[in-house]
Amino acid sequence: MPIATVNPTTGTTLLTFDELDADGIELALAEAARTAASYRLTTFAERSALLLRAADLLEAEAEDIASTMTVEMGKPLAAARAEALKCVKAMRWYADRAESLLADERPADADVADAGAAAVRVSYRPIGVVLAVMPWNFPLWQVVRFAAPALMAGNVGLLKHSSNVPQTALYLGDLFERAGFPRGCFQTLLIGSAAVEAVLRDPRVAAATLTGSEPAGRAVASVAGDEVKKTVLELGGSDPYIVMPSADVARAARTAVTARVQNNGQSCIAAKRFIVHTDVYDEFARLFTEGMAALTVGDPMLASTDVGPLATEAGRADVEELVEDAVRHGAAVLCGGRRPPALPDGWFYEPTVLADVTPGMRIDLEETFGPVATLYRVGSLDEAVERANHTPFGLSSNVWTRDEAELERFARDLEAGGVFVNGMTASHPALPFGGVKRSGYGRELSGHGIREFCNITTVWRA
Ligand code: NDP
Repeated sequence: MPIATVNPTTGTTLLTFDELDADGIELALAEAARTAASYRLTTFAERSALLLRAADLLEAEAEDIASTMTVEMGKPLAAARAEALKCVKAMRWYADRAESLLADERPADADVADAGAAAVRVSYRPIGVVLAVMPWNFPLWQVVRFAAPALMAGNVGLLKHSSNVPQTALYLGDLFERAGFPRGCFQTLLIGSAAVEAVLRDPRVAAATLTGSEPAGRAVASVAGDEVKKTVLELGGSDPYIVMPSADVARAARTAVTARVQNNGQSCIAAKRFIVHTDVYDEFARLFTEGMAALTVGDPMLASTDVGPLATEAGRADVEELVEDAVRHGAAVLCGGRRPPALPDGWFYEPTVLADVTPGMRIDLEETFGPVATLYRVGSLDEAVERANHTPFGLSSNVWTRDEAELERFARDLEAGGVFVNGMTASHPALPFGGVKRSGYGRELSGHGIREFCNITTVWRA
């Protein structure tokens, strides 16, 4: 994939960039390693001041970078603005809390004595240079939720961003440098995916984090495994959205629309499979379909637009293929199911609801990265759980019920890294984020996220 800004609203190539060559990569690696050696010795107070400065700059520049994101990947401008401000919040959250999240731990006196020590402490030390391979769907947030904790932990970052968001990628490197972070603390490498392996194998790189598709995750994790380097993977999701008879069905249907089409339907934690109890199925299906059909699809720069184009032409083709395959195998199209005829340019796709989805259709098991929802009718809680877990993914899940016993069953039995009850899944700096099964491993955000890339060191003293 060439490194370029191609506006998905028009299909026009606006800017192309040269890939960093081998010499450029070597310079960046040397700079990262040099900086890591000194940056690890800075205090939390020093790092915090730098990150707060970056947060202030980003807050002041939110409008500009929001437009850049919308031009590069098509999300509605208001959502891009909200994303930038969410990054500001995460930076401030880690700037304020990293020191206490990474405070030394002391085992109980009896355990210290049993270990034959006079004193033991467990310290969270930085691990060094971390490579971040990041996707285009939340081009600021995905990076900041790695960078803020990594920089506060005393690590340095190398960013390999998606090839279709180079301007946002360059902005991020520039932002941290302007905030005063030492040169080499956070560098954007404009490289294609083929160059990732060599960077990851370089002995100066300690670990990697990747957010993106399963094939990309598998490729990076196998190289890292071969090099015995730690990885965190946040891959795809096909989150269930379960509606039980005790739910507020109207609210569940309204929220379901947002949960499915947020970010033009291109979110790993978007609800994708709507699993509805038969007692409320018809009402939910009607309200949800009405809500999806009423959305305004169009230019993401306009405040009136709910759903912009898909980020890439290939991404739209993937969505079209999944829908066509489902229809060929008997799925019913309740709304959408095609490109909007009034928008011939750009990579638009109508918000779509499919019913009668059955095993054997690709869409039943694959991640749909676009505004397409599948509906399933179930007769019991057990069937809802079974249907929800019938997926290779396990990122998050959504449950609508007012029955406490049901809630506890879902919280116990859903195979996912999150269970969101009577609301939609959303990330927050204080909440661990990540999945199980093919959705990856490790956690981002919260104390769990900042500890992922630390050398957890036992200091034992006789
Ligand atoms: P990818 O997973 O291919 O891209 C994510 C990042 O990984 C990019 O920086 C990409 O670089 C890089 N990458 C891709 N392949 C490799 C590799 N073999 N080795 C090293 N790095 C690699 O996502 P796409 O943009 O191609 O989207 C395809 C599908 O992935 C989507 O339709 C969706 O299903 C899923 N996806 C899920 C996301 C999530 O948040 N869970 C986010 C994005 C995509 P480059 O851009 O240069 O190829």
